[in-house]
Amino acid sequence: MELGVWMNTSNLTLRREFRFAMNFWTRVLDMAWYERNDPACSIQVVEGSSSLFVSEAIAARSQLIDKDPFSGCIAFNPKCRMTELDFYLTAIHEVRHVNARGPETAFSPRCCA
Ligand SMILES: [Zn+2]
Repeated sequence: MELGVWMNTSNLTLRREFRFAMNFWTRVLDMAWYERNDPACSIQVVEGSSSLFVSEAIAARSQLIDKDPFSGCIAFNPKCRMTELDFYLTAIHEVRHVNARGPETAFSPRCCA
């Protein structure tokens, strides 16, 4: 499996930590990824609008089926205060939502859809 990822955010910390998270998954799954900054991507990383989040404590959402027919969107909450580690762990978690639909076995940061 090879995934194209659109880092559609100006948040440089988010971009960097999301790359680290994708690299994490390449060590766990039989997958590769590359940056593909256009709508033909498999995963799009954005900073979501406040309407996506019921609370500032929610870090991110994915699988926004009710908001966006593109199921590879991962929206981070710009109002949620996050450390670099928060971004990294949340990205790992949300990528799992996009790549697998089974029960969650990984750690669960503040999230989600
Ligand atoms: Zn989750």
